[in-house]
Amino acid sequence: MGERVTVCEVGPRDGLQIARSIMPTAIKVQWIAALAAAGVREIEVGSFVPPRLVPQMADTAAVVRAATALPGLLVAALAPNLKGAQNAYAAGAHRISIPVSVSEGHSRANTNRAPFEQVAEVGRIVEWVRAQERPVSIEAACATAFGCSIDGAISTAAVVRVAEGLAATGADRVALADTVGYGNPAQIRAVVRAVRAAIGPKLSGLHLHDTMGLGLANVLAGLEEGVRAFDAALAGLGGCPFAPGASGNIATEDLVFMLESMGFSTGIDLAGLVAARDLLHAGVPNEPLRGQVARAGIPRTFRTAA
Ligand code: ZN
Repeated sequence: MGERVTVCEVGPRDGLQIARSIMPTAIKVQWIAALAAAGVREIEVGSFVPPRLVPQMADTAAVVRAATALPGLLVAALAPNLKGAQNAYAAGAHRISIPVSVSEGHSRANTNRAPFEQVAEVGRIVEWVRAQERPVSIEAACATAFGCSIDGAISTAAVVRVAEGLAATGADRVALADTVGYGNPAQIRAVVRAVRAAIGPKLSGLHLHDTMGLGLANVLAGLEEGVRAFDAALAGLGGCPFAPGASGNIATEDLVFMLESMGFSTGIDLAGLVAARDLLHAGVPNEPLRGQVARAGIPRTFRTAA
């Protein structure tokens, strides 16, 4: 059996948050169920943000509740602050993801706080969650870790400082996010290496966008540095409403094709994943669906790693 790589589907959150139309809740839940049935074991199903800012996410509590009924699925939800985390906890999320932008400009646009004010908010969330009855995993993500469309270049030292601050809050996991997709493979290697040297196994995974077409090259760089968890969005949807110029995530279908072809086991059925695009299209018919595997068709020579 191939070495395991975890793929977390973030399409229902990152993918839909900038969609021009709002996916009906019933279709969203069916889509998430189809992804889970294809073997996806971790899905970020939405975010607890004010509906007036991100109306696509207004039904997140209902979606979390429905998704937690699916067997064997880890249901993650994004929350930018304590209030959102409390709502995520109340809805039954298994993991709460909190974005912490390394870039001052994006941090203020996204959460109205400076980076280290947001690190302190993660500390308050950890403290509150730990005092609750149900154990919930907390992942903090260093957003704009590889560049920012507002502030420009981001230094490795700045990423390390934020990652160290987050690890010190007691968060379970710290991810690195290329929010706008400006990262390159050499940079991925250097930043992953530096952050791992600083916080060790708390470095959980990479969240990559394909803005410049370097998404899978960046995955490869992460794999070579020992990263075994990646976020991706079906059909390469995605972007951040508060990060001008950001484009789609790496496409889950293409990521799974690459990983399985290389001998890494994802547990995901590629044909089932491609078929789940139909529900995505039914829910947001005006969004362009990307992804090379779906366009070309799964080659007859393709074999899963398992
Ligand atoms: Zn993203």
